Amino acid sequence: MISQYPEKSWSFSKDKLLNRCPRAYFYSKFLMWGGWELDAPERKRKAYRLTKLTTIEQYLGTLIHGYIANNITALKSEDIKTALEYVGKEFNRAVIASYKLREEWERNPKNYIMFYSVYYKNRNLFEGNLGMEIKRKAKTLLQNYYNSKTLKDIQDGIRIIEIDRENNFTSFFVDNYKIYSIVDFMYEKNGNIYIVDWKTGKRSVDDEFQLKLYALYAYKNYNIDLNNVYLINEYLYEGDFEERKYSKDELLEVENYIKERIEIMEHYLKDKEKNIPQDEMFFPARPSKYNCKWCNFKEICPEYKENFILKN
Ligand code: SF4
Repeated sequence: MISQYPEKSWSFSKDKLLNRCPRAYFYSKFLMWGGWELDAPERKRKAYRLTKLTTIEQYLGTLIHGYIANNITALKSEDIKTALEYVGKEFNRAVIASYKLREEWERNPKNYIMFYSVYYKNRNLFEGNLGMEIKRKAKTLLQNYYNSKTLKDIQDGIRIIEIDRENNFTSFFVDNYKIYSIVDFMYEKNGNIYIVDWKTGKRSVDDEFQLKLYALYAYKNYNIDLNNVYLINEYLYEGDFEERKYSKDELLEVENYIKERIEIMEHYLKDKEKNIPQDEMFFPARPSKYNCKWCNFKEICPEYKENFILKN
């Protein structure tokens, strides 16, 4: 039986959400919990559905990540034409599902794609050159993958340790919290460990922390020597990569940071052991043009209505 409250967990993306807007965090972690049950209250069901919205960029990223994971596992050779056909077909399917299968998505949001821009009607996907834009971007990402330093390493001979597969929610524990950390690709070569993060978007200030988190995951799960770890961002849009190396102490510092953030997160709980949250109003809403622009939950957020709809 599913428990009434979510498991005790922490992830970097949820932590960022808590920082940006605690109310959005409440919706994405607590209100949505159990919203997949058909007899759950409608607002809960809606919150769950809204967590499943995806943007065009995110969906393209998911397709490219999936393609790369399969390509590496099956050791397939370069074939841009087939890869682009696959991405194009999946995209068309997703656009059609977003427009035509809304009721199906509402009943079963896990099994259908709903684009944020279709749901919130902020872009008509049939206008302009979306198809061409996607194709151009996918081609750049795939070409740069085929020319990447990591793929060259693979072709020279490596030992694969881990590769991200769909629904493979890898984690480790800090105290009794489950820390989600999904490594794209980890391999061993000449006694060194390489952890690779494929990036399909722009560089971000978070890239460094994310890699350090993956190193901590590898340390906890595989007991690797942190002095022999190389962390790599493959920036597929730019066709560039960055290799980072840290001391063991620098990497272990991440655990202290997570503990500090968990302490902050626990201020929002009524019961820390059972992970029972305070009431919705205890989680301050931080409406702003920047925060709300791409927030999945604006449809159910009273502060959004008050600040952006009722005022206009
Ligand atoms: S709509 Fe704005 S205020 Fe409401 S939860 Fe989202 S980010 Fe926060």
